[in-house]
Amino acid sequence: MTAYQLKIGDIECAALDEGASSMTLDAVAGRYPNVSRQEIASALAGEAPSDSLNLLYIMSGSARILADVGFGEAGPSGTGGAVKALAGLGVAPADIDILFLTHFHGDHIAGFFDADGAPVYHKARFVTAQAEWEEWMGRWGASDSAGDQLNLERFRALQDRFSFVNDGDEIAPGVNVVDLAGHTRGHSGLLVEAGGDRLLHVVDILHQPFQFARTDWHFIFDSDADHAVQTRRRTLNRCADEGLLTLFYHLPFPGLGRVSIDGDSFVWNPIA
Ligand SMILES: [Zn+2]
Repeated sequence: MTAYQLKIGDIECAALDEGASSMTLDAVAGRYPNVSRQEIASALAGEAPSDSLNLLYIMSGSARILADVGFGEAGPSGTGGAVKALAGLGVAPADIDILFLTHFHGDHIAGFFDADGAPVYHKARFVTAQAEWEEWMGRWGASDSAGDQLNLERFRALQDRFSFVNDGDEIAPGVNVVDLAGHTRGHSGLLVEAGGDRLLHVVDILHQPFQFARTDWHFIFDSDADHAVQTRRRTLNRCADEGLLTLFYHLPFPGLGRVSIDGDSFVWNPIA
């Protein structure tokens, strides 16, 4: 199965399996700079760690929306499944009307361009948070890396096709932007709401299941680690308090479930 389909009221949604790559203990430990390797080892409790990638597809009215594009052709082995997962739903890249970018890390945007530098989802309107665009145009502009310069040039050339949004903005009926800044300055999720049902896509507020119990552990790619901790706790509290169906980008496919609270710890309850 490469797509997990569900309905939120009359809005069709699916979690898409972009793939997963296995990770060594050392690779995981290297991502948590304020935690010892031993603490990571005991948090994993013998489980083999992996890094999963789950995209969100939404059909609201006649608008076909995709949140993030994954690695595309250029990622680690085991990734790059997004286009195939969409095809399983009968959807081609040219059918996507709105491409929402939650943030500009490579595992979310590398599949934006094909090998010739053209947008894969070439008919879509591109949507991202204003703060996210500003962060990355600035970071890439200040970087000497050829890859960063290429990203800067390619995205700048498409600037007129981007709509820039902020917290609470509606990108399609029943689909609203949720500010989750901290991981990056404009890191944003989506709240899908229809007919009394809700789904909150919280993207990268955490990256491994053990972070439900250790929300204070910093993640190396957080632009502002302390802000990311606050956003992680606030959002997990909201998910638990409101009993929300929640999607995480990096939890094992489909990344859907509910958050609960047990004492000082959050608990992840994946859907069966
Ligand atoms: Zn990510």
